[in-house]
Amino acid sequence: MKILFASKNKNKFKEIKEIFKDSKFEIIFDDDFEDVIEDKDTILGNAQKKSEEIFLKHYIPVLSDDSGLFVEALGNLPGVSTARYAGENASDQENIEKMLKNLSNEENRKAFFKTVIYFFDGEIRLDTEGTLNGQITMTPRGNNGFGYDPIFEIDGSTLAELSFEEKTNISHRKIAAKKMCDLLTDTFSE
Ligand code: IMP
Repeated sequence: MKILFASKNKNKFKEIKEIFKDSKFEIIFDDDFEDVIEDKDTILGNAQKKSEEIFLKHYIPVLSDDSGLFVEALGNLPGVSTARYAGENASDQENIEKMLKNLSNEENRKAFFKTVIYFFDGEIRLDTEGTLNGQITMTPRGNNGFGYDPIFEIDGSTLAELSFEEKTNISHRKIAAKKMCDLLTDTFSE
């Protein structure tokens, strides 16, 4: 079964494709679709909205994901607004700068990433979740990955200091995607 991955982010696509590589599902990528406005209150709501809107344009099974960074000292913000933390079209760099500024006098650096993956084929709806606990560093470190990777530390390394394989092995997206792969395998076992 071919499943369209509803994201323009090639890094995410690479991560998801790797996880599904030994399954009977072929994950395909098309960066040609219009952006879906992420205006729901939860990352589950946004993931569901993306899957539904993209399905209605392409009429093939769709997988979408939505993620957020939840920082304890900020009352679990930015959460659903993580991509827009420093403004509507903020760059990764601007988001990182704002996060470090807002935490500059804060000792509690605990944070977690959460990803929800949502499947919709016009009939069946499935969703899974993955989380990754870590902490926000004082300064950015590392050149790999994307988004907040340079300031999210786990076991002494930021995600941007890990190789692609090392990050994919532990990431919140991997946990959610692995659960989704197992769920799809069970659901479409006949
Ligand atoms: P979205 O799921 O693409 O909407 O991501 C929301 C925000 O979280 C964006 O600013 C992403 O760059 C960031 N983000 C999502 N996944 C990751 C990750 O694995 N590492 C670092 N930042 C991430």
